[in-house]
Amino acid sequence: MTDRAPQVDVAARLAEVRRRVARAAAEAGRTPQSVTLIAVSKGQPLDRIEQALAGEQRVFGENYAQEAAGRWPALRERTPGIELHLVGALQSNKARDALRLFDVIQTVDRPRLAEALAQEAQRTGRCPRLLIQVNTGGEAQKAGVAPDALDGLVELCRNRLGLPVEGLMAIPPEADDVGPHTELLAALAARQGLAVVSCGMSADFEAAIRHGASHVRVGSAIFGARARRQT
Ligand SMILES: *Cc1c(COP(=O)(O)O)cnc(C)c1O
Repeated sequence: MTDRAPQVDVAARLAEVRRRVARAAAEAGRTPQSVTLIAVSKGQPLDRIEQALAGEQRVFGENYAQEAAGRWPALRERTPGIELHLVGALQSNKARDALRLFDVIQTVDRPRLAEALAQEAQRTGRCPRLLIQVNTGGEAQKAGVAPDALDGLVELCRNRLGLPVEGLMAIPPEADDVGPHTELLAALAARQGLAVVSCGMSADFEAAIRHGASHVRVGSAIFGARARRQT
């Protein structure tokens, strides 16, 4: 990552995003507290994360376990109350590292990964809260369980593996309106009795909230443009 990243006023951007979250929640007849804002800090320089922490942001998302492992343990030591979400793909053989680092893993999408997490959880006696990623757009190249295979995966995770599944997550196709995808995700979650609906990013988080998202994952609107991915 370049250390010549341009200065960004994260405090001001964060305040503006919070204002927009509150307004969208109000439009949906909900309280601002009913929406969790996850600040997605992948590819961002450390000083921008520190600005967000100074602005009382405590819930963060990262995409790459290795990048997250390089900075969050030290940040956690200095700042209590941080909640770290993995929002990027997870390889089954990295379950051990992810389980140690993250409070929430949003990208469980296949039995093999669920089994690897369950095995590690049993070994260590601790397990992050989990969301199941659903491929609501049916895109061949995208991660996520197909909507019609969701029931089976939830059943495996909850009943047979005893994993703490709290909700569902989706990354809708970029070209699509986020509304119908969020509604589908919310309906699937409600049918399973799951409270968390994670959908919406910088470009569309307000619409996602209006259509039922409980958690929005916002990166560039808070932190500015990312450095290009290094790996
Ligand atoms: C990068 C990323 C985000 C945030 O994207 P922005 O457009 O910068 O808000 C949210 N969710 C996931 C899964 C991501 O990979």
